This record gives sequence, structure tokens and C-alpha cells, in this order.
Amino acid sequence: MTKVYHITYYPQKETVCLHFWGCNLRCRTCIRQKEIYDCHLNGSGQSTGGQRLLPLKEVMNNLKILKVSKVIFMGWEASIDPELANLARLLHYKFRSYNTLITNGLKLPHLDHIDEVVLSIKAYTETVSYTHLTLPTKRIV
Ligand code: SF4
Repeated sequence: MTKVYHITYYPQKETVCLHFWGCNLRCRTCIRQKEIYDCHLNGSGQSTGGQRLLPLKEVMNNLKILKVSKVIFMGWEASIDPELANLARLLHYKFRSYNTLITNGLKLPHLDHIDEVVLSIKAYTETVSYTHLTLPTKRIV
């Protein structure tokens, strides 16, 4: 079982975003404490607690009809999933995808099948805020 609970696809860039449940930090401004779904979707949802986590096979089945060039492992925090390295390996073999891990860096998995790591550095001051881009994105799961 993975910790993936939500999958979105950005067709113009052939990019899949895999969203993983849970985190090893509790940042005060964490967007996931307000919205559990991809913030690029219109009308993304309020958090209602635990979500259904997908088995590895189901994650791959959901992607098989898509043209996938890039996969982004994102949050909550993907690195806490023990299946992450295995999932990255399968995605490399099936799609030859460019795999990007977005992480807080507290715990790094095996990076053999991760092509890029984007590390977010958490702020300790209350005056620091953040922005994010809005892109057209399609919900898969
Ligand atoms: S590391 Fe990211 S996902 Fe985890 S609590 Fe902080 S902002 Fe949220």
C-alpha cells in the first residue's frame, strides 16, 4: 500500500502529480491543513480527515492510459512513504518519466530513480509567507 490518495494530470506538459498523505512536520501555514486536493484544481476540497490510500498497482493502473513525461511526488510529504523508491522505479521503467520529489528534506528515500529533488526550506519567522502558481490541471483520483 502506498500513501498516494490523490492524482492529478497536467496534459499540456504530460505531467502527473502524485499526492501523498501525511507529513513528519506540522507547519503552521501548511496548505494541506486547509485543502487536501491539488491547489491548481478549481474548487479544491476542504480536509475531511483520512483518505483512501491506493495500492501500488492501482496507482500504476490509473496512469496507464496517460502519456507521462514527468511525475511529481508531492504533499503532504512523499518521502515518508516506504513505497516511494519502488514507485519511482516502476515509473522509470514504464514511462521513462522524469521523476521529481518535492520534500521538506527531513527524511530522504533512496534516490536511484528520482531525477530531481526540490527542497523546501521551512521558515521560523511569522513574517514570512508564500505564493504558488495556478496551472490548468485535471483530477484523476
Ligand atoms: S512540510 Fe509541507 S506538507 Fe509537511 S506540514 Fe510543512 S508545509 Fe505541510
